[in-house]
Amino acid sequence: MINKERLQLSIQTVKENITILESQEPEDAGYYLQLEHEKMVLDALEKQMPKHYELWNGQCCCPNCKKIFGSSLQLELLRYWDMPYCKFCGQALIWKDYSTEKVGE
Ligand SMILES: [Zn+2]
Repeated sequence: MINKERLQLSIQTVKENITILESQEPEDAGYYLQLEHEKMVLDALEKQMPKHYELWNGQCCCPNCKKIFGSSLQLELLRYWDMPYCKFCGQALIWKDYSTEKVGE
């Protein structure tokens, strides 16, 4: 099980690293590699933070890559298939009913 507080702390730290890097003048090619590295780490960490699936036009889709999983009528099946991560991009997913859960929690 993921520790959301530690994950959030790591995300914050990487965001601060990026802000610091972006405030500096590039000195050499290593600067761009480091900046790219930090952004890749941020992208990977943010996908670990579970997000609620999105509903779009009656379709369930990934909150990150927006690829469609299927009709919301198949939601029970999607839960049954036990898909804790988006199969397209790796985004951690929350499969709870929109009507009873707040989005983003
Ligand atoms: Zn996705």
